[in-house]
Amino acid sequence: MKSHVVMSGMRPTGRLHMGNMMGALTNWVKLQNDYDCFFVVVDWHALTTGYENTHDIKENIRQMVIDWISVGLDPEKCNIFIQSHVKQHAELHLLLSMITPLSWLERCPTYKEQLKQLESKEINTYGFLGYPVLMATDILIYKADKVPVGKDQEAHIELTREIARRFNYIYKPVFPEPEALYTEFKVLPGIDGRKMSKSYDNYIEISASPETIRQKVRMMITDPARIRKNDPGHPDICNVYAYYNIFDENDNTKELKEVCEKGQIGCVECEKKLASLIIDKMEPIHQKRKELEKNTTIIDEILNNGAKHARSVAERTLEEVRKAMKI
Ligand code: SF4
Repeated sequence: MKSHVVMSGMRPTGRLHMGNMMGALTNWVKLQNDYDCFFVVVDWHALTTGYENTHDIKENIRQMVIDWISVGLDPEKCNIFIQSHVKQHAELHLLLSMITPLSWLERCPTYKEQLKQLESKEINTYGFLGYPVLMATDILIYKADKVPVGKDQEAHIELTREIARRFNYIYKPVFPEPEALYTEFKVLPGIDGRKMSKSYDNYIEISASPETIRQKVRMMITDPARIRKNDPGHPDICNVYAYYNIFDENDNTKELKEVCEKGQIGCVECEKKLASLIIDKMEPIHQKRKELEKNTTIIDEILNNGAKHARSVAERTLEEVRKAMKI
């Protein structure tokens, strides 16, 4: 029996990229060994900003879950499920929205920021304003006490704590106040050196074929001062070198730094070696992916079992909630 409960989710955005793998996913794979983990595909959250475009949501869920499992999430060690398969989230969301002051939601920094960023979309909706309550619900319904987050999501954890405190004060203590779980993980830049993101089109998918990997590596930004092979290089400003630092488990980067600085290796050769390194690292993940793609009933089974367990835990919490609220 693991003593702490972790909850974390991702919107179903389809196939994930290597930035997701090196960041959140690798972290989840580690957490599943030490915590009772609930990893959820938050499809209702996807509706808060994308309610008009739902035709590919099911396929996006499937592809994302295939990536989760290929990278190392093990359904024997953690619960993997879809938010909308656990209807208890909707009931608790409604109940918590009754006690959440509007001002708490309006002051949420990501709310204002996203309204600005997504101004081309009509998201001035009741659902979008209330999405932090849905997030709080996802956490509190499993009584999660640890939530792996980045610094940009701190405000949501604080809001979840405030909602839990308010509920516990008005009725009776039911919810623990969750804490943010900050973990160090490697940040893989996009091929242009900016943050890797689908919206910047600078990403490499986890499922990218060896040919696509080679092609993307060739597109990476290197030291612009290097014109000829024997020009001394500056690996610290080179994206290819940043990738070596993350992918090279044998830590040959010192050697590469030296030969680059002395102009003893050309960028083309260096890129080819990096592409081979990435292809080798991804090989077992791709094998697993292929097996799962051939037999997607395994994915359905994993999601059904995960939802079954999640429903039983969520229902237990809701029984306490209804009793505390006398309804
Ligand atoms: Fe970057 Fe490699 Fe070229 Fe040096 S040799 S600048 S590390 S690609």
